[in-house]
Amino acid sequence: MQKGLVFNIQRYSIHDGGGIRTIVFLKGCPLACPWCSNPESRKAVEPVQWIKNGKKEIIGEWKTSAEVIDEVLKDEIFYRTSGGGVTLSGGEVLMQHLFAKEVLSELHYLGINTAIETTGCFEKERLESLLPFTDEVLFDIKILDMTQAKKVIGINLKNMKENFEMALQFPGVKVTPRIPLIPDYTATEENIEMIINYFKNFDIKEVHLLPFHQYGSSKYDYLGWEYLLKDMETLSDTEIDQIKKRFESHGFYANIEGLE
Ligand code: SF4
Repeated sequence: MQKGLVFNIQRYSIHDGGGIRTIVFLKGCPLACPWCSNPESRKAVEPVQWIKNGKKEIIGEWKTSAEVIDEVLKDEIFYRTSGGGVTLSGGEVLMQHLFAKEVLSELHYLGINTAIETTGCFEKERLESLLPFTDEVLFDIKILDMTQAKKVIGINLKNMKENFEMALQFPGVKVTPRIPLIPDYTATEENIEMIINYFKNFDIKEVHLLPFHQYGSSKYDYLGWEYLLKDMETLSDTEIDQIKKRFESHGFYANIEGLE
């Protein structure tokens, strides 16, 4: 049985998929988005220590897939009555793909709706192994200029696009693209234009827009890491609405969602 490193299990969420959900956050992410609001999830699949209110805390706990299944099944009644289920998030789920596969396949067998959130930043075999047990993929699309994507967040866009397009074609899987709206990074005229033009190649009906926020800021202090966007202002409601309308004018239903 696989063990996975989990840094949070959040119950009763109404984000990250339909209905009432439990979100299982897996530790580890190879990317370096400067706006990341879960910096404790980044880097290797190993526990990290932070100091919060003067106390040392270890972030990340190794759990077997059976332990995670037991935990999430406590809310099975809510999933069944609300059309909800379980979402594996991160970090980057594909960092722990073998563990994720075990959890997803068991939930799938039990008839629980499953979702994953990913940036698709690995070779496509990893995502491909999860899709037979996944009902929805919340696919993060951030920066579509190849050079900028590599420079700012460290992602290989070729991998990301291969994964995205494979998921879109995979039978029985709903793919919902999610775009973090980060001033000067992703929410620029050019980037939004590139994303819309890219999406027009596919049968995409709905996108999620995730406006920038500063809620993760104190976590950088706990970790003793520099937070480059500490003075970045959030977008105004008008700016968010303008971006939403741009997507809608091209026929996409744009949902302002939870926050990245
Ligand atoms: S992909 Fe997500 S978890 Fe990884 S650095 Fe970016 S925002 Fe953070």
